[in-house]
Amino acid sequence: MNIVLLGAPGAGKGTQASLLEESFHLVHISTGDIFRANIKEGTPIGKIAKSYIDAGKLVPDEVTCDIVKDRLSKEDVKGGFMLDGFPRNTFQAEQLDRFAHIDLCVNIDVDLSLLMDRICGRRVCSCGESYHVSTLNGATTCKKCGKELYRRDDDNPETVQKRLDTYFKETAPLVEYYANAGKLFTVTSGKQPPKAVYDKIAKELVRRGRSKK
Ligand code: ADP
Ligand code: ZN
Repeated sequence: MNIVLLGAPGAGKGTQASLLEESFHLVHISTGDIFRANIKEGTPIGKIAKSYIDAGKLVPDEVTCDIVKDRLSKEDVKGGFMLDGFPRNTFQAEQLDRFAHIDLCVNIDVDLSLLMDRICGRRVCSCGESYHVSTLNGATTCKKCGKELYRRDDDNPETVQKRLDTYFKETAPLVEYYANAGKLFTVTSGKQPPKAVYDKIAKELVRRGRSKK
């Protein structure tokens, strides 16, 4: 089963992907994580991506589509994958339909008023985990791997506002794109804890015949 996770920045795509990866045989692919790894290593892709990410804009489609296409050609995704952060506009969705088969789009719907606090209070680990300061109780390291947590450069109020604008203009139309394709499953996150949202998604995957680990 191949899944696209859709939702505004801060909706909890990464958190859900990490929970789903633990209980289902699904490989988590986050374009944001791939870009951040490239920036850290100073690769040519990282150099291009950085200026766009810092401005809250989308990295150009050619770069992004090539990365995803390449990643999806690897053996490990054959048993199913979850795309987190891709596609982010209609062009990317159309390209994706050319090089992969998507079974389901899980749209995480969350109240706009919650997003700013969620993102600005977010602390992340290079292993892909993310946390909110309100649940860390002062801890500064990752519960999963022990590495030091940090705040993403683009998780500041000014850039977040730009990312939200970009989301509503370019990415939100994909809800209709996947609804038209008969592939949409929307889960409302609201103030529910991540586990409650996860339970709803997991139930839907099982209902569609996906077995747990
Ligand atoms: P969030 O969902 O919280 O915005 P991500 O880690 O998914 O965080 O993305 C961070 C940034 O990486 C985006 O703001 C954008 O600049 C870039 N990016 C990620 N995925 C894509 C994509 N599919 N197309 C273009 N740019 C992307
Ligand atoms: Zn970690």
